[in-house]
Amino acid sequence: MTDVTLKCGKCGSKQLQVEANPKDDSVVTCGGCGSTGSYGDVMRQGKAEIMKAMQRELGNMFKRR
Ligand SMILES: [Zn+2]
Repeated sequence: MTDVTLKCGKCGSKQLQVEANPKDDSVVTCGGCGSTGSYGDVMRQGKAEIMKAMQRELGNMFKRR
């Protein structure tokens, strides 16, 4: 299960407002600090964090053997 959580890069809030069918250049507005960014950037950031978390988990698994 990988679910990309959109998160504000500035304040870490997950209360981001974005249109229903966002495109890469759709504007995302943070409900926490009010900063804006592009949906594509926020998604890339979210995916990168998931990849990092997964690699960390895999690393832990191998260390336990
Ligand atoms: Zn924010």
